[in-house]
Amino acid sequence: PSSSSSKVALQRGRMRLSLQEHLWAFYHERVNIAAEDQQVARHAALDICAELRAFIHTKVPDMPLRDMYLSGSLYHDLQVVSADHAQLMVPLILEKSLWSFIPGEETIMNVPGFWLVRRENLEYFPRGSSYWDRCLIGGYLSSKSVLELFEKLVTGCMNWPAIGSVLGYVVRPAVPSHAEALTLSLEVQYDSERHLHVDFLPLLVTEDAVSLVAKPHRERENLWRQSFWSAETTKLLALDRDDDGCRCVCLKIAKAVCKLNPALMSLNASHLANAVLMLSNTQHDWSRETLAERFTQLIRALVGHLEAGRLPCALDHKVNLLCELTPREVDELGYTLYCSLSDPESLLRT
Ligand code: GDP
Repeated sequence: PSSSSSKVALQRGRMRLSLQEHLWAFYHERVNIAAEDQQVARHAALDICAELRAFIHTKVPDMPLRDMYLSGSLYHDLQVVSADHAQLMVPLILEKSLWSFIPGEETIMNVPGFWLVRRENLEYFPRGSSYWDRCLIGGYLSSKSVLELFEKLVTGCMNWPAIGSVLGYVVRPAVPSHAEALTLSLEVQYDSERHLHVDFLPLLVTEDAVSLVAKPHRERENLWRQSFWSAETTKLLALDRDDDGCRCVCLKIAKAVCKLNPALMSLNASHLANAVLMLSNTQHDWSRETLAERFTQLIRALVGHLEAGRLPCALDHKVNLLCELTPREVDELGYTLYCSLSDPESLLRT
């Protein structure tokens, strides 16, 4: 029995070794984006951001905004496959005395991770006292309505063909890829084969420094989504920096797998980053040699979360990151990943 069990161990070792090699090869060939390509994409994003900033200042000088800035995986070497999108953060200024923030779990809807923004003091400061009153729906500031306001401005009033020709790009407002997801995005073609999507992301920051973004809930479109993005990204990068770990490599491989595999497309960066953060709580060795083991554990953990129908946000366990998926979508994701467990390499054959 000892010789057969050592044979099995040897075979397992070989399998692990080869998964390890496959993962690193996949990472270098398909996942990681060359530094120059990231640089060119960032440059195009910056040009577009400058145009938008100038246009909004001239066209609607009274719109209370803080300075817009670019953000996203492209700025932390966490983007995968191709350098093709960035977020343009648009911070709104809200008058302290006129607005209050109500966490989703304290409302009748009971959705942790989403917030209502209520207009206050209407009797003393009637509708119209705040610039943002034009985006009120039923007494609340609607994230959908804010997005629509920007959409009218950006798609209706800006002369993109002219701006594009000055910059040497083709720029056009992009049609959202999922009919249900309300997004405002500009598609920038900056050479014959390279496209970049710049997504508008209006942002509110509460007095307690909670960040809320106008990325509406799938069904409840007036809510504001709490953003854990900065905190999650900072935490992941810091963990890897401290021990020279491979968490970000593992995350990037998982992101590429989901991006390239249509059956896994509804698992997004936030699902995967939080699963990696939670795995980091139980696994402490993330040296490069552990990649295959950690990747397999990540897939297994995701299967577990999907089976339970619950993937908690690592920074706030009340929030269930699967809450917007239908039970059917959750089942299908779980099934696809479960089937891959016996042969994780199959995930890399895309
Ligand atoms: P990737 O787009 O899959 O590479 O992943 P990212 O890490 O760049 O995540 C971007 C997604 O997070 C977008 O869909 C954003 O709408 C969402 N998001 C939520 N909050 C933030 C934020 O504060 N900054 C950025 N850049 N994105 C955010």
